[in-house]
Amino acid sequence: MANADPKSVQPEGSLFINGGFVAGAGAALPVIYPATGQVVAELAEADGGQVDAALAAAVEAQKAWAALPGVERGRVLRRAADIIRARNAELSRIETMDTGKPLQETLVADPTSAADALEYFGGQAAMLGGDHIQLGRDWAYTIREPLGVCVGIGAWNYPMQIAAWKSAPALACGNAMVFKPSETTPLTALALAEIYREAGLPDGVFNVVQGRGEVGAALVNDPRVAKVSLTGSVPTGRKVYAAAAEGMRHVTMELGGKSPILVFDDADLEDAVSGAINGNFYASGQVCSNGTRVFVQSGLMDAFLERLKARLEAGIVAGDPLDEAVNYGPMVSNAQRQIVLGYVEKGLAEGARLITGGKAMDREGFYVEPTVFADVTDDMTIAREEIFGPVMSVLSFETEEEGIARANATEFGLSGAVFTADLTRGHRVAAALECGSAWINAYNLTPVEVPFGGSKMSGVGRENGPRAIENFSQLKTVYVGMGPVEAAY
Ligand code: NAD
Repeated sequence: MANADPKSVQPEGSLFINGGFVAGAGAALPVIYPATGQVVAELAEADGGQVDAALAAAVEAQKAWAALPGVERGRVLRRAADIIRARNAELSRIETMDTGKPLQETLVADPTSAADALEYFGGQAAMLGGDHIQLGRDWAYTIREPLGVCVGIGAWNYPMQIAAWKSAPALACGNAMVFKPSETTPLTALALAEIYREAGLPDGVFNVVQGRGEVGAALVNDPRVAKVSLTGSVPTGRKVYAAAAEGMRHVTMELGGKSPILVFDDADLEDAVSGAINGNFYASGQVCSNGTRVFVQSGLMDAFLERLKARLEAGIVAGDPLDEAVNYGPMVSNAQRQIVLGYVEKGLAEGARLITGGKAMDREGFYVEPTVFADVTDDMTIAREEIFGPVMSVLSFETEEEGIARANATEFGLSGAVFTADLTRGHRVAAALECGSAWINAYNLTPVEVPFGGSKMSGVGRENGPRAIENFSQLKTVYVGMGPVEAAY
């Protein structure tokens, strides 16, 4: 691969502890370019001593950071946002080599969304505060305090965005953070740490350790940790939530989904097809909020499938993700490709009708064709389990009531959408969907200004929006007795 210079994404060190790069002392962690299978950087996990050092650095740095005026903390975050924007091209290239996502996508969706979060929470840092409550003669006030040391653990689909969505509100509130990226995509969290340092963040406030699940578990179980924010799958979320509960630690859980899109007969056909494409094939389907169960009202079904197939087959440009003309990349790993192909086989075996795709692409790298199944029924495996790849299930429905009931008949509750020209139905269906984010005539738009998170098994807590501050801070109540003090005896 011409552009994939193996040395070009090698970081200075695998870990970032107390303001500097450090070599990992644990097991090897090769970074593989998913478009070729080639190793493009050699990292190593943190060992136990290094996990301890990162937490100790965070503990040491946190109080002084919290003691700064909010406007000063915010200034550091906003400076970091400017540096990210100035380096967007380089950071996007690293993200593309780490994840395999097309540069066309990473240039507009990855470092830039990280910068958005730093700008947004940088602005919020100056406005944190509590309330004054008058109680007749006495009164009380609340102080908004940081939690202390927070742990962030990331998934591999939006590595830099996840690191920023977690660290920006945490740091704005005066916490310190130890962040563990996914073992599959360890690079851009390190770039973020370096940028924070350049922006003036004191040493130890943001640390990065690398490793697989055991390193994450060591962080989650440490008594110095006040809060854990995880982005990952439901099975991992269960384990991490349970471990955090042992120490009564705060949690935010951003987990998986199997989200529904309801397309009514009166929907704008092109918009509905666009929504379904955005909600299934962007990032080759590796998006937690994807609308992978597309319920189409029977009157529109034939036209919907025809347009979807035509647009996919004409529009997909698969190839080297570093080529900006390419809009479709590989799966993040060979293992993920095999999982996705396994689901395709199950779909065929259980009687779904293949409309397009269904195979690994005949090229190097971990590519899977964009795949659409029709005639999918609610009980099929591909309609029940999160695939986390480019596989869309299209299901038919007749009435609004039926569509909503079937859309909600899942343990997941991350997202959902309705496409309709009927204004009241749009709002009615959005209200009835059991999920954290519902879109009306749109899909997968998640700007930092609005809360994002899941209900049911898809998680607890919300990232982004003004209330995210509440997930990284706590209130202390101060009751002020204005005397005299009365006593019964
Ligand atoms: P994963 O659950 O396998 O791993 C997530 C992270 O948890 C990794 O960093 C991993 O090393 C770590 N981990 C694993 N076991 C652990 C343990 N016992 N203790 C602590 N940490 C542990 O998920 P993945 O395959 O990396 O990512 C895909 C999943 O993430 C999908 O289910 C997807 O829907 C979900 N996701 C959710 C969101 C969201 O915001 N809701 C966003 C992106 C991805």
